[in-house]
Amino acid sequence: MAAPTYEVTAEALNLRDQAGTQGRVLGVLKRGDVVVGAQPAQGGWMAVAAGALNGFVASAFLRGVQATAGTAPPPPTADVNVKDRDLARLHPAMRAKVEELLQLFAQQSLPFRVFEAYRSPERQNWLYEQGRTRPGGKVTNARAWESFHQYGLAVDFVLFENGQWSWDDSGPRAGHWRKLRELIDQVGLHSLSWEVPHAELHVQLADLRAGRWPDGGDDSWHDLMEAAVDRWRGQNLPGAPTLASTERPPLIA
Ligand SMILES: [Zn+2]
Repeated sequence: MAAPTYEVTAEALNLRDQAGTQGRVLGVLKRGDVVVGAQPAQGGWMAVAAGALNGFVASAFLRGVQATAGTAPPPPTADVNVKDRDLARLHPAMRAKVEELLQLFAQQSLPFRVFEAYRSPERQNWLYEQGRTRPGGKVTNARAWESFHQYGLAVDFVLFENGQWSWDDSGPRAGHWRKLRELIDQVGLHSLSWEVPHAELHVQLADLRAGRWPDGGDDSWHDLMEAAVDRWRGQNLPGAPTLASTERPPLIA
């Protein structure tokens, strides 16, 4: 498996010889620089390779760089910091709707892109901990398996302009976000009043948790669901859905 690749999101980011601000500065990375992560982040610091230099950076200023859709989906990263933008890991019914939306954005010159698609239960819990057991402001009220992102049935769209993500909704951009809501409705997806960038396939969460999956899940989607449930149960964590193994056609012996 290839090492995960990250992009620097800060204007300037120090590369240090130790994890922590006491480390000596080996170099300064710029926004958009790409680094290779050597290890999972620990205590907010990640060992990275940046060109010929090896050192540590504060992982809050990195974002994961994902493969583009259409290629074979690599396994989801175990790093809870990384946003997964690969449409290949969505349920096929959701993927078709998202592709329809992306076409509408292009036709109407709306600069929205997929900001996050599939989200592992590990990452969901990590986000839930923010503002509770971890510093920072609260970003979600959903624990693992309570968000449609864990089922590959939700996507967040954010404006992407001049090489940067933007949540700006002032001036002419207010109309962009209004239009986003209209188009989400138009393709038959469901939006949330409290989370504007979010679109989901409208099914009941209780059904998902009971293992009543939407029709049309392909093998890679089932594999992804089963692997996540297995990981979760393997750690004796609560809340994993019942596996809908009966919906998969039986193997011919
Ligand atoms: Zn969302």
